Amino acid sequence: MATGGRGALSLLQNYGSESEGDSGYTSEDEKKRKTESSSPHERKKKKRRAEEDEEMAVDHPSSSSSSPSASSPCPPPPPPPPSSSALETMMMESHNLSLSQNHHLSMDATSHIPPATRTIPLPRELLQGGEEHIDDPSQHQGRIRSIAHERGNWASIVYVPLHLGVFAASFASFIASLVAACQDYNLILTPSSDLHISLTRTLILRLHWIQPLTEDLRAKLSKFSRFSLWLHGLSVYVNEERTRTFLGIRVCHGRNELDDIVSDIDSCIAEYRLPRFYKDGSYHVSVAWCTGDVSESLRRLLPQLENICSQYFSVESEMRTFNVDSLLFRTGNRIHTIHLKADH
Ligand code: AMP
Repeated sequence: MATGGRGALSLLQNYGSESEGDSGYTSEDEKKRKTESSSPHERKKKKRRAEEDEEMAVDHPSSSSSSPSASSPCPPPPPPPPSSSALETMMMESHNLSLSQNHHLSMDATSHIPPATRTIPLPRELLQGGEEHIDDPSQHQGRIRSIAHERGNWASIVYVPLHLGVFAASFASFIASLVAACQDYNLILTPSSDLHISLTRTLILRLHWIQPLTEDLRAKLSKFSRFSLWLHGLSVYVNEERTRTFLGIRVCHGRNELDDIVSDIDSCIAEYRLPRFYKDGSYHVSVAWCTGDVSESLRRLLPQLENICSQYFSVESEMRTFNVDSLLFRTGNRIHTIHLKADH
């Protein structure tokens, strides 16, 4: 039986480890700090970064939340509603954001922060200032970015991670057979590297929302009990920009529990005027994807793909069921684990 646990999204993959204790420092960054020039301009920049870092403190469940720089008593007032084009831009799907994995992280000027406080590393372009990010699709399997990099925006998502455990190899060969069947019809799909069930759209957060929202989500969601879900049936999904098509396995049992969780997530994020989950939300695990909207062609292949799916699940019947013990809230490079209650 596989259990919920880790399932790093391709969203922001490699942006950081799952550890909530990850400070984000790298030896590269250390070196950089040591050799940094101390011209007046640099000193000014350093001071500003130090101020920004103080703003970036987020809660760290395993450490005391009483750290002065981590405390932000109340959420900021909701921002003005974004213009419709900005909102559209925000409503990108998670996979496109994996492009941010190409951003190298760097931190600076944090030596004044108490050790219990963890900070989110800033993207290098934010530290350097003034440089425009030039996207290189060759670095991310040709995926098309749905949103331009914008300073101070933190791509975030709440999701159920799926652990495959000992079934990882057999599941990979099952996905490979789905991909091969599609290839026979000239549909070239790529297996998904991170299996998860999204419970939000990709949310674009302002830096100062992160801490209060994380606290809100933790307070609300940790009240839910653990549950199991059951996967059954394939569906085709297209992102909102119609730049990517996904083959997903739907959640069959467990939808009521997910509905309750999503309803609470939606009420948390509504305070920030962030987009709610799909009204006709179809919980699923995307197992393969390709660029462009090939939904029509892929849907035509569904009966054939369903056969492969049934065969696989008849052999590996345990792979249909997943225990959901925790939810993950990923924001920028940081993953917060929200454990569900063990009792009922
Ligand atoms: P995910 O694997 O969770 O990232 O989902 C893949 C894509 O499915 C996302 O880009 C969503 O925008 C898209 N999608 C389209 N319709 C739905 C729906 N009804 N429920 C959930 N996701 C959907």
